[in-house]
Amino acid sequence: MSEKTASISGVVYECVRCGTRVSAEELAKLPEIKCICGYRVLKKTRPPVVKQLKAV
Ligand SMILES: [Zn+2]
Repeated sequence: MSEKTASISGVVYECVRCGTRVSAEELAKLPEIKCICGYRVLKKTRPPVVKQLKAV
């Protein structure tokens, strides 16, 4: 039940035109994926994820 919600949480879409970022949760409430500016091309981005990378 909560798996789907968990899978999209944290995913952020960014409008390629105006750069507005909308969370997947917000988009899920809309009838279609669309930016507030009217543009429908959004790219999927991820919020900064902390990874333990060692610079050698
Ligand atoms: Zn936009």
